Amino acid sequence: MKHVRKHTFRLGTYRISEGEGWVGLCDQPDDYFTLRMEVLTGRSVKALACQIHEALHAEGCPDSFLHQDKDPCDNIARFLMRMGWTRDCDSAAPKEESK
Ligand SMILES: [Zn+2]
Repeated sequence: MKHVRKHTFRLGTYRISEGEGWVGLCDQPDDYFTLRMEVLTGRSVKALACQIHEALHAEGCPDSFLHQDKDPCDNIARFLMRMGWTRDCDSAAPKEESK
């Protein structure tokens, strides 16, 4: 399983950390010079939902959209898993995304 250490989103370049037991974290550019993103590791639907959620924050998606009673990222993750997407798809990622 490949570990992505940095990725550039609309709001900036983020250092990515993966771990277990985290809820997820995504710095906002106005608050920090070095942007950090923390996501759940693994191949579970919960981990994918966390990664989508934090990535959308880094793309500028507002809290008012993502922090609802039902996080839309949970449903998106379930949909992608049902479509057959897995963590093993990393090998097909473009080179600039695998730095
Ligand atoms: Zn959030």
